[in-house]
Amino acid sequence: MSLKALVVEDDREIRTLMQSSLGVEGFEVQTAVSINEASALLQHDPPDVVILDLGLPDGDGAQLVREIRRRSTLPIVVVSARHQEAQKIQVLDEGADDYLTKPFSVGELLARIRVALRHRGTALAPALIKHSLDDFLVDIEMRTVECGGQPVHLTPTEFKILARLVRSAGRVVTHRQLLTDVWGPDFIEHTHYLRLYMGQLRAKIEADPAEPRHLLTETGVGYRLAVE
Ligand code: CA
Repeated sequence: MSLKALVVEDDREIRTLMQSSLGVEGFEVQTAVSINEASALLQHDPPDVVILDLGLPDGDGAQLVREIRRRSTLPIVVVSARHQEAQKIQVLDEGADDYLTKPFSVGELLARIRVALRHRGTALAPALIKHSLDDFLVDIEMRTVECGGQPVHLTPTEFKILARLVRSAGRVVTHRQLLTDVWGPDFIEHTHYLRLYMGQLRAKIEADPAEPRHLLTETGVGYRLAVE
């Protein structure tokens, strides 16, 4: 059975491109050009994944993210223009799974959709406890980290940050989400903590901390643990 994708996008050209490329990938694609139209489709024929543009003629996409999250854990991938940076962070904090900034390639869109579907699909399975990419291994349960066959010693806080990124491997984790989950809700303004600890983590994990391959920066948004 093919998966259903709902594309909410008012730009005709982008909508048509997404519709055809998702169709080629085997998705059954529905489209909506506004929040109202999307809400109606969501109620009558719920999809398996939503690809959501933020700037829509009858409001902003964040409204729809809130509406969806009140009822379901449906994966949502947000698509935004560069000037919508602040809004993008807001929708991630409100429960969108990931985002892409225009212009993006179809390959990137499909990769984000795959990761979001995988995460939601395993929501009821045990939490992700192991991560490996090439010679970088993290085992949350055993609390061990290895790089190039050598054990890496992390401080408890460094380990907590890494464990949080492993739980969302492949997806962006916002500054706010990281600060809340590692330090607590009173620390959401302390983004300088993250810069400091990310620097330390990269020094221990990355072959070249200036060109990280594992702990990726999403400028102005957060961090992402690379999965491929
Ligand atoms: Ca738009």
